Amino acid sequence: MRRKARNRVDLMLQSMQNEMSDNLDSVPRVCQSQRDDGGTDRENYSVENSQCDQTMHEDGFSESASDESSDDDSPSALDLPSALSDWATRFGVSLVALTALLSILRVYHPFLPKDGRTLLKTKVTYVLEKVAGGSFYYFGVLNTLSRTFEGLSSKVKDRHLFKLQLNIDGLPLFKSSSVQFWPILGMLQGFMKRPVLIALFCGESKPTSLPDYLGVLVNELKALKDGFLIGQKTLFVQISSVVCDAPARAFVKMVKSHTGYSGCDKCTQSGVYSNHRMTFPEKNAPRRTDENFKDLSDEDHHRGVSPFTELNIGMVSCFPHDYMHLVCLGVVRKLLDLWMGSAGPLRCRMSASQSCIISDRLTGLRAFVPSEFARKPRGLIERHRWKATELRQFLLYTGPVVLKGILPDELYNNFLLLSVAIHVLARPSLCFVLNDFARTLLFCGPFQ
Ligand SMILES: [Zn+2]
Repeated sequence: MRRKARNRVDLMLQSMQNEMSDNLDSVPRVCQSQRDDGGTDRENYSVENSQCDQTMHEDGFSESASDESSDDDSPSALDLPSALSDWATRFGVSLVALTALLSILRVYHPFLPKDGRTLLKTKVTYVLEKVAGGSFYYFGVLNTLSRTFEGLSSKVKDRHLFKLQLNIDGLPLFKSSSVQFWPILGMLQGFMKRPVLIALFCGESKPTSLPDYLGVLVNELKALKDGFLIGQKTLFVQISSVVCDAPARAFVKMVKSHTGYSGCDKCTQSGVYSNHRMTFPEKNAPRRTDENFKDLSDEDHHRGVSPFTELNIGMVSCFPHDYMHLVCLGVVRKLLDLWMGSAGPLRCRMSASQSCIISDRLTGLRAFVPSEFARKPRGLIERHRWKATELRQFLLYTGPVVLKGILPDELYNNFLLLSVAIHVLARPSLCFVLNDFARTLLFCGPFQ
């Protein structure tokens, strides 16, 4: 990208230079009529021209290229660095091999660089800071999204408020060490399909100080909330939501984790410790609100004050629970374990032959699963390796078909309640209209 950008700049400079030389004769005449001073204009232009030449010559490739083009007019010599660079990128040539090739070619084409990285223009240096017990680099919201904003500025009205969705999560890098990334990703809601990297932390544990880790981001977002200028328009950016899994959410909100008493971040029940795990069985407990959170009214819930509170965002409403972890990797996997494993009550268990039939049905569907699905169904024996997308496919699409007639009615109907409720909640056109219906389905299962 850097190479292409640079080539574009070179081309633009070249065309500007050509335009200037074309206009040299015509422009002074126009100016002459205005200023009676055509000679000065001519001088100005020639000064600019020489500056242009200088700029061109500062670039090694352009210099040699223009020299050679004037000498032998050979286009192949002109394009050799670009052609080599394209070739190396296209065929995934390793840096070592490219550098070795360059050392051979330099005997015949001395203008070629020594190092493959110079040819590809991929030499980028980042100055890492030591922050919160690890290395930290802040790419910045405006810096990362500036091109997006420039592209969008013509499509939105003046004083448009962009909604930024953030994601913060820990990412182990190796199985054999505790080194982990803590990236902060951002995405403009409604305008982007893929998130971009805003900051990256790397350390042997999670950031030791949340204010240090989030401080720069929070300060930039505070500034962006007051508006910034892109072209002729003033634009605003505000956080719409922060999407995290449960441990990361507790970390960035500085509240008790979901495994502790008062750990539910949507309601105020304190929880019941049962069977070696924390449970929150109360369905109608008083809800937490943004105002209660701001006032720290439930002392048992908070561990400190999160830097996000400085942004005046809803500390309860802007931190949604994620359906991937809670439903797909949570409830669906738990149901499968209850049916197949030995931990659950006897009345919930399937026999080995029943699970074989279900597995056969699942694998039999492989040929009929369209390419819109990321994965084809696998047998239940591999269920511990099922990805969230496979569990979702099982819950919403294949499960109701393959379980029918095999699972006892009571269990099958219970599964259908979940399947239909999640169908409703996952579909934007239904989730508001049928919200109460979904709630009824989830709260009134046969075992409740
Ligand atoms: Zn709760």
